[in-house]
This record gives sequence, C-alpha cells and structure tokens, in this order.
Amino acid sequence: MKHSAKVIRTVRDLRQVTAGWRSDGKTIALVPTMGALHRGHLALVERARKSADKVVVSIFINPTQFAPHEDLARYPRDEAGDLAKLQDAQADIVWSPGVDEMYPAGFSTGVKAGSAAADLEGAFRPHHFDGVATVCCKLFNQVTPDCAVFGEKDYQQLAVLRQLVDDLNMPLTLVAAPTVRERDGLALSSRNAYLSERERQIAPALYAVITDVAAKAATGAPFTVITADATAGLAEAGFTKVDYVEIRDAQTLSASVSPGKSMRVLAAAWLGKTRLIDNVAVGTQD
Ligand code: AMP
Repeated sequence: MKHSAKVIRTVRDLRQVTAGWRSDGKTIALVPTMGALHRGHLALVERARKSADKVVVSIFINPTQFAPHEDLARYPRDEAGDLAKLQDAQADIVWSPGVDEMYPAGFSTGVKAGSAAADLEGAFRPHHFDGVATVCCKLFNQVTPDCAVFGEKDYQQLAVLRQLVDDLNMPLTLVAAPTVRERDGLALSSRNAYLSERERQIAPALYAVITDVAAKAATGAPFTVITADATAGLAEAGFTKVDYVEIRDAQTLSASVSPGKSMRVLAAAWLGKTRLIDNVAVGTQD
C-alpha cells in the first residue's frame, strides 16, 4: 500500500492525532521546515524516521523571523511539490498551519533568544532568532515531539535552540544532522533558487574558502590573518559583500577559542541580492 502523509492545518486536528499516537505508546519526531524542500530537508526526515515511531514535518514560513527588508514575500513556495516529496519520504503528518492559525488575532507573547544569538547572524539579522525561538517553542508545544531534527547548515540556529531547550527545561531532545551539499560543495538551500546562472557558478567558492580556513586554523596560524584572507578570497571569487568569516568555539560560538576545544568556521556572504550562509568543522571531515 502506498504511504500517505496526512496534511493538517489546525492545532485542534493535530492534537487529536498526536493524542492517539501517545495513547498507543508511539514516540514522535518533528522536522521543522519552511518548505521548498530539497535533499537536505529529506535527509532530516530520514534521520527523524530512525529516531521515533512517527514523523511530523512542519511547513511554515515564519513571518516573525524575517525583517521588513528581507525576502519573506519572494521566499520560494511549492506546497504540492513538498507534499509529493514528503509522501515518498514517508512522513506521517505534514503540519502546515496558516499564519492566522499560528499567530491568531491578539497573539502577543514572544521568546527572547539567549546569548548564542548575540552576534554572527544576530548582528546582521537583529530579531531573527527571537522569531525562530518563538516559533520553535510553539511548534514544540503543538507537536509535543520526543525529538526534533535540525540541520547543521544553520549552525547558530542549532546553538540557539539547544540553549532554548536547556534554559526552559523543554522535554525533548535536539538531533543535529550534517549539511547536504551539491557535488561542487554548495550547501543545498531553498534560497539557491534565487541565484542567476553566473552567481550559481560563483557560489561553491563559499564552501571552498571556509574549508581552506578550517585547514589553516588547524595549523595554528593567526585567526585574524586567516579570516581576512578568506574575506578577500570571497570578494575575488565574485561575492559582492561578505558579512563575516569567523572561527568560533564549536559549542558556545564564543570568539575566545581555547586550545583543545573543537572549533567551527562560520560565514555569510552575498551574491547580488542573495545572502548565503555556510559552516564547517575545524579538524574533521565535514
Ligand atoms: P529551512 O526550511 O531552510 O528553514 O530549513 C529547515 C531545516 O532544514 C533546518 O533545520 C535547516 O538547518 C535544515 N537544512 C537546510 N538546508 C540543509 C542542508 N543543505 N543540509 C541539511 N539540512 C539542511
């Protein structure tokens, strides 16, 4: 029999299904997404299927994590395509609430993201992580998952959410899944659809440059020199603006990196109107 993923659009209907699962003793994994699904998202669904009996994939383009000048209006949407992919990936529920269901009239409570949100993305997108923390808190309360699967592609988001779950004693485990890439190294992203043919050719330089930074950081060369060279390298490759290239403590994301601790290289750069982010580990294959 062909697998069928059920689309649910109200909290009330969602609770009915999850309550049934709970009374049958089933565990639940949640994969939060904003849709326009690609292989990276589907790898998270596969990971979720290994972690729990039932898998809920949420599709919600969360307006509160976009600033007014950002790309909310043009963010890619393809619900029919997403549903077909999620049937194949054997998700059990596609949780796809409208904005009015998520933020009904009178909604006014928010979660303030913790210290992990302070800089990097937080410096360039000041309210972004408060929006992410608030919507994830709502998703966790709506779905009541035993675990939620997130991609390392959004490495700082993962750190912010770990802090959220720890600080607020939320009863779920966060699972991190590695970044899925194109053959040329470009991290899969829904935003790659914005790239022109020429920009798409330049884009893999981001991964190449941060991989090079990671190799140099492991040799003990001065970080300020390494990251300045990387910024120049990205400009030379054709990136129109570099927001940051940073070597950070892999757990705390602190800029003070102590010897023996694992490190992460994180970067954000623009190709015309498209902002790409990526990150790699220092000292291990990524
Ligand atoms: P998004 O739909 O972009 O908000 O992403 C939803 C989830 O998919 C987040 O946990 C992302 O980190 C994850 N994700 C996005 N791109 C990738 C990728 N290339 N590889 C693995 N996970 C990804």
